[in-house]
Amino acid sequence: MSNVKTGVIGLGALGAPMARHLAGCGLLSGVWNRTTAKADSLALELDTVTAGSPAELADLSDVLLICVSADEDLRQVIAQSGPGLQEGMVVVDTSTVSPAVTKELAEQLVEIGVGWVDAPVSGGVEGAINGRLSAMVGGDFANFSRVLPVLEAFSASVTHMGPVGYGQATKAVNQVMVGGIAEAVCEGLALGEKLNLPSERLLGVLTAGAADSWFLRYRGKTMLEDRFEPGFKQALLLKDLKIVQKLARDLNMNMQTVDLAIRDYSALVAAGDGDNDTSGLIKAKRVQAGGA
Ligand code: NAP
Repeated sequence: MSNVKTGVIGLGALGAPMARHLAGCGLLSGVWNRTTAKADSLALELDTVTAGSPAELADLSDVLLICVSADEDLRQVIAQSGPGLQEGMVVVDTSTVSPAVTKELAEQLVEIGVGWVDAPVSGGVEGAINGRLSAMVGGDFANFSRVLPVLEAFSASVTHMGPVGYGQATKAVNQVMVGGIAEAVCEGLALGEKLNLPSERLLGVLTAGAADSWFLRYRGKTMLEDRFEPGFKQALLLKDLKIVQKLARDLNMNMQTVDLAIRDYSALVAAGDGDNDTSGLIKAKRVQAGGA
């Protein structure tokens, strides 16, 4: 099924580059976005069609690939796609949402013979643009195999983790680390500023040793220059951390790093920084350190 016709819903920071890679592999059947202007300009660039609705896009497609923000947004686009979904299709959800909502929606679709593959990704906007994402996938193996060429179009690594919901459960683990690494890197760099260390040499020495990380490499320089354009929006990481917190509470687990990151990002989002990149956490760390 390597000529699988794939419609993309949600052309944000991740969805738009995913659609570009699918077009490059000859797999794109069309696009839809809530804000139509984004869909129109990408459709023009990629010589594809802007569907009039999610249902119309589903009608043109074998696979519907979705990349929207949160649980309720996913519920909405699935409801809007409903009339176009046909038996034998597969929905691939690359949004980061809760495993519970994933299972609920997948169970609805299985009733009409539509498969579900949850395939949240990691690797940032750079990973999406370069086609180097890491996809963590839940779904039955037959559906996973059918949509593998779609996921491989924009991923360096595609890993089947288990049945529906296991992709999102894996992403929850990933986000514990993403939130914790942001806490440590931003706090460390705020200390470096207080100590007046030369920033370029500091980043060079840190990335050459055991403190290296994706976040430090790709966001260290920009955050020290006070540039927080997205990237990965703080409001989206906060949404992910709340998914993790709920999972942990259901398991009677205490996750202090997650609680700390939720406290910090809640304050930043409340202050109006929700659309800034997650590296904007350094602003909170400077204040906590008693700086400006
Ligand atoms: P984004 O740039 O904010 O784009 C969000 C997309 O979702 C937009 O196309 C938006 O449409 C659409 N959308 C939101 N609510 C909708 C609704 N109710 N109905 C229809 N469409 C809706 O976000 P993103 O960075 O691409 O992230 C998308 C997902 O990937 C999120 O779950 C995020 O947590 C996850 N993720 C992001 C990154 C990253 O580095 N950015 C990395 C890994 C995972 P409009 O254009 O109309 O607003």
